[in-house]
Amino acid sequence: MIFDSHVHTEFSTDSQLKIEDALEVSKKLNLGIISTDHIDLNYPEKSKFVFDIDEYFKKYHRYRSNSYLIGVEIGMTEEYSDENRKINQSYEFDYVIGSIHFVDGIDIYEKSFYEDREKKSAYNRYFETMIKCLKTHEYVDSLAHIDYISRYAAYEDSEIYYNEYAELIDEVLKFIIDRQIAFEINTRRLDKNYIIKNLIPIYKRYKAMGGSLVTIGSDAHNSNSIGMNMKEAFLIAEECNLKPVYYKNRKPEYI
Ligand SMILES: [Zn+2]
Ligand SMILES: [Zn+2]
Repeated sequence: MIFDSHVHTEFSTDSQLKIEDALEVSKKLNLGIISTDHIDLNYPEKSKFVFDIDEYFKKYHRYRSNSYLIGVEIGMTEEYSDENRKINQSYEFDYVIGSIHFVDGIDIYEKSFYEDREKKSAYNRYFETMIKCLKTHEYVDSLAHIDYISRYAAYEDSEIYYNEYAELIDEVLKFIIDRQIAFEINTRRLDKNYIIKNLIPIYKRYKAMGGSLVTIGSDAHNSNSIGMNMKEAFLIAEECNLKPVYYKNRKPEYI
């Protein structure tokens, strides 16, 4: 079964999606889903981007099946690496995503991160943070949205070009390959008529360095986005000769 491995339900501060509605879409599209609600312990407002994980399991456990699995998206941060590790160990997630949402204590969604920063130095910091945080979150199953910064960066061209950051990207890729961490193809920025071409060299490089596993996720925060641009993600995987997987019980299952 094909899985959308990155879906946010109402346990995420920024989603109101009901699990029942997500499961209805899953059934309609004949597409497996993994809920991966947000834990970002470094979020400045302490009540946001955290949730009651016991409650999450209590409420969602009954829906667990071959087509619905329980995951989490952990915002990787050095500051809370012990707490994040404890969360990872304390719950029986099927799947744990590791993400970089914060750099130098600032949510890179915020425009203020880009003020007074050249693109090159902002992106260097982003990749340096990714490398540092991966080292203390080496248990994650997949590294999410390498192009996250391109969603929000306030530059004329926010795309990541492999050659401009080759050394840092190679360090990221080497780490995840050595640790058998999968590499996510996040479909949020893909498009039905157009695949973001600059992402291809990054995934090709991952393959060339010995990587093979990719997870595919829409990062949906509402029912309309579930399964969005999955076909384009499979095309990237095919072009780069990578193997799409989803995780069940913390182990990769081939699609
Ligand atoms: Zn994310
Ligand atoms: Zn997400």
